[in-house]
Parts: sequence; C-alpha cells; structure tokens
Amino acid sequence: MAAPNIETIVSLSKRRGFVFPASDIYGGLGSSWDYGPLGVELANNIKRSWWRWAVYERDDIEGLDSAIIQNRLVWKYSGHEDTFSDPLVDCRDCKTRLREDKLDRNEEGKPVCSNCGSTNLTESRPFNLMFRTTVGAASSDDDPTALAYLRPETAQGIFTNFKNVLDTSRRKLPFGIAQIGKAFRNEVTPGNFIFRTREFEQMEIEYFCRPDDAPEVHQEWLDGFHEWIRSLGISDSNIKDYEQTKEELAHYSQRTVDILYRFFPERVDEAKQWDELMGIANRTDYDLRVHSKKPEDAEGKRINPDSTEDLSYFDPQTNERFYPYIIEPSTGVNRTLLAVLMDAYEERTNDKGEVRVILKLQPELAPIKVAVLPLAKNKPEIVEMARKIKKDLQPSMRSVYDDTGGIGKLYARQDEIGTPFCVTVDHESLEDNAVTVRNRDTWEQERIQADQLRAYLEGRLSA
Ligand code: ATP
Repeated sequence: MAAPNIETIVSLSKRRGFVFPASDIYGGLGSSWDYGPLGVELANNIKRSWWRWAVYERDDIEGLDSAIIQNRLVWKYSGHEDTFSDPLVDCRDCKTRLREDKLDRNEEGKPVCSNCGSTNLTESRPFNLMFRTTVGAASSDDDPTALAYLRPETAQGIFTNFKNVLDTSRRKLPFGIAQIGKAFRNEVTPGNFIFRTREFEQMEIEYFCRPDDAPEVHQEWLDGFHEWIRSLGISDSNIKDYEQTKEELAHYSQRTVDILYRFFPERVDEAKQWDELMGIANRTDYDLRVHSKKPEDAEGKRINPDSTEDLSYFDPQTNERFYPYIIEPSTGVNRTLLAVLMDAYEERTNDKGEVRVILKLQPELAPIKVAVLPLAKNKPEIVEMARKIKKDLQPSMRSVYDDTGGIGKLYARQDEIGTPFCVTVDHESLEDNAVTVRNRDTWEQERIQADQLRAYLEGRLSA
C-alpha cells in the first residue's frame, strides 16, 4: 500500500512536523515550503544515503560543494541565458498563466487550458527560468555589470571545477564528481506540494568518461539508480523508466532516461499517474567544450573567448587529448522525499477498530530510530531509568524520550512518523532490568535486558 494521493502526505506533514507552508503567518508564498523537525531529519538521511552510496561505496567519485552564485559567464556559455526557458502561454478566458508543453491537447492538437478548458490561448513565448539578482553594494537593480543568477542546477559548478578536481585528486578517466545543493528555478506553474517548487535541492553526479564508453556507462548508472531507489524502500511497482524522444531531448543530450514515480495514483488515466523523480542524461562532450578557451567554430573563431582554461583531458596511455563525455544522474532531494513518504504510507486497523497510520520508512531514513517511553511518568525511578536509556542510546542512534500521553497514544504517534522501535520502561523493569521493545511494522513486543538493548537495536536497525 502507498498513500492514495499527495494530499494525504500534505496533511500528515503539517500535522506531524515534516513540512510546513513557508511564510505561513503572512499568508504563505505560492510554492515555498519549510522542512520541520522531522522533515529536516528525513531530508538529511536521504542525502546521507545518496552520498554514502554514490561517493563512499565507490572508488571513482569525488565530492564538491560549489557556490550558488557564479560569474554570469558560466550561464552565458552553458547556454542557460539563451535557452533555459519554458514555453509560456496565457489563457485569454480565465487569465491563468500556463506552461504550454504540460497542457493536454484537443482533437485538433491545440493546447487546452488546464484551469477552464478553453483553447483561447496566447501564442507561446519563451520564459527564462533563472532568478536574477545583483552583486555588490553599489549596484542598482538594472546594472548589467552587476547581474548574476541563482544557479538553476548544481551541475555547472562541477564542470567549471573539472580541472581543479582532476589536478588535485590525480584522477584518471573514468571518474565522477558528486554534489548536493540548492537550485532555483522561477517555474511558471509550480505546485503539487514539494514536487515542483521554485527553490529545491539537487543531488547530481557528473561522470566523466571516454566518448566510446558513454552509452554503456549511461546504462550502468540507470541500473544503479534503480538499486538505490529500491534501497530507500520504494516499491518497483511505483517506478518506471521513460526514454525521452528525439524531440524532447535537450540540445546537448544524446540520450536521456527519466525515472518516474507514481506521484498521482488517484488519476483515472494510468498514463497520467507518473511524473519525473530523476533523470539520467548522456550530455556528450558539450559542457567541457563550451567552457573551454580552445574550441573554434567553422570560421576559426573561439567559441568561448572569455574562458581562461582548456578543460580537455590528456590520456597518457594513448597520448590523445579530448573532451570527455559526461553522464549525469540528477536527482531531486524533495521529490525523493515525497516519493519515500508516499511509498511508506500505510493504514492499518487495530483490534479496537481504529485506523492507524504507519510510515514504514527504512530504518536508515527514519527521522527517529527509537522512542523511549516510561509507562508511569509519576514514578521517579521509572522516569529516571527511561531517561538514562535514552541518553545511553543517543550517541549511536537518534532517540527521543516521550512521556506526554498514554502508551497507546505514544505508540500511535511514533508509528505515524516512522519510528522503527519503541522501548517501554515499566514497573517490572525496576525489578528485572529488562524493557519492552515494540516493533513498528508488526506491533510485536519483546522483552530485552536493558544492558543488551543497544546491541539489539543496532543489529535490528542495520538488518
Ligand atoms: P521537469 O520536467 O519536472 O521540470 P526537469 O527535467 O526540468 O524537470 P532536471 O533539469 O532534469 O528536471 O532536474 C533534475 C531533477 O531535479 C528532477 O528530476 C527533479 O527531481 C529535480 N527538480 C527539477 N526541477 C524541480 C523543481 N522545480 N522542484 C523540485 N524538484 C525539481
């Protein structure tokens, strides 16, 4: 089972502190969201899982954290100033502003307004998605020399550092550079909760390889990412690939495969239930070429007269110099978090006939690994023992102490936020130094000696 729709997750998120509408006390701001106490833990755990899998468990990836605001020339030569735009149309009837490429078409192939159904739309025009800002104290808002952008993707910071990383890490092809960080796009139609926002976070790998190897490397990353997504507990039945058509491919891409998640299970038309979770592109040698000072056009003019570096690679074995191809797996933290929450969502009826929500998060992702609960909060010895257990567990796993309700309510609260284990300290614990460990998924309880608790939980959490 998974969540029946995104709305269910919106309300759970607000109720329990995963995600809140940003600037809520001032009426909110369109598609901005704040990550609450549990959301920040979940997002951090997703990023940690990705970094461990993409960087630590391999021997061919280096990490990087590049600046959000770069020299404007980065965005000129990457092509973003000219081409990073969405086709914009206005509905003349209901005045809604829409992204033309996302609209349904009627029998004549005309785009239909998703708000009112009208086909009375303006001509499509390109709308650049980059957020503009100005840099420097003296600059005025329209000073072109001070113009800068918030990065719309983390990738370009990797390309411009290719030589720095290559030289300092003494790498040979193939190798990759990984980066996690914020990106900003002034989306025409943001929405669907955290699925499409104007500020979001990306986890990107730029993997540099020989041109001939690129198709195979591309497929390996695609297969690899299916494994990683599975490791997050997301069911295969809610995942599928989409091969971009020639018309859809970005101008620099030779092949792009999107991995889709069933974000909209409530839609009657099955084809419309899916949308992009991440994309894996073969970007060819486009990026390193356009940022290099050397390449020339047909008339012998430098393509990039501003760059001070050549980002080609010299292969000492073959004595060849060339621009590596780049395979780019690009994943959104926020969309991954939404897919993880939707897939982990389950409702179960207890023996009193009450419907309970359980988030079956993988232990690695769960914001809280264990909750320690005293059965009687008015008995100081029990409280003291429970607090001590929490303190002892904390260095090795995220633990909380909670005595703010009856035990049934406390269990339900932890189930709903995905805590894999609850530990209960009761009157008997004072006699036999044992505690009750309750499993989130089975609701089964086991009695464990307090001095063996940590080892027991560590074993179960990493199983
Ligand atoms: P879409 O077609 O949905 O606009 P895209 O193809 O433009 O996405 P990419 O440029 O490939 O997206 O970005 C890589 C990843 O970054 C996406 O797969 C997604 O996970 C994430 N992402 C992109 N735009 C947004 C956004 N506005 N809000 C949240 N995540 C985003």
